Amino acid sequence: MITLKSEKELVYMRDAGRVVAGAHQELAKAVKPGITTAELDRLAEDFILAKGARPAFKGLYGFPATICVSPNEQVVHGIPGLRVLENGDIISIDIGSEINGYFGDSAVTLPVGEITAGAAKLLEVTESALYTGIEKAVDGNRLSDISHTVQKYVESSGFSVVRDYVGHGIGSSMHEEPQVPNFGRPGRGPRLKAGMTLAIEPMVNMGTHEVRTLPDNWTVVTRDLKLSAHFEHTIAITAHEPEILTRL
Ligand code: MG
Ligand code: MG
Repeated sequence: MITLKSEKELVYMRDAGRVVAGAHQELAKAVKPGITTAELDRLAEDFILAKGARPAFKGLYGFPATICVSPNEQVVHGIPGLRVLENGDIISIDIGSEINGYFGDSAVTLPVGEITAGAAKLLEVTESALYTGIEKAVDGNRLSDISHTVQKYVESSGFSVVRDYVGHGIGSSMHEEPQVPNFGRPGRGPRLKAGMTLAIEPMVNMGTHEVRTLPDNWTVVTRDLKLSAHFEHTIAITAHEPEILTRL
């Protein structure tokens, strides 16, 4: 069932979203060659707790950390650890927080030092794909209008969209109905209504869209080990423009 949020619930979701956005801002300052992914995780956890929020990924389905960090060929769900970021890497960082029982979820892929022109294009296309999808998140459209727009944008730029992982409804749980795929024909799925809150999150691969999971049972990598990027916002559908909740 897709729930419509009241204005009071949206206030809590804005709070959770602002904490996620603030944590991203902190990590963006810290990402540089030489830092470990575990250090980034600690920074994010300290920030979220200092804001009176809870790191929402920690313990979710058994995930062991506050953030998902997925460098280079890793798509999503990478676990923070001793890996040291190197010049030329790209690093996807996904952060979730919870306040007063409501959730925010947002991801970004950052360059580490100097990256190749191809990698820079992948980041730019993935972020733009997210915003083209958000533009379709308006009252009266169908859910798959978002999906179709994202896929069309990504593929016309020469990249591919991941099929095996998708966006989702979000609110008083991290993952609610409906699923929000980044591919598909337009005009399908539920009618979008003011009060729906969605996490829209294109995962874009430089090569094949196919992915596999490493033996740690978390880390998802591209099958061809080419680069992957991930951008995500939690948004609310309103009577007017979509409202991005995970933004300062
Ligand atoms: Mg996320
Ligand atoms: Mg998400």
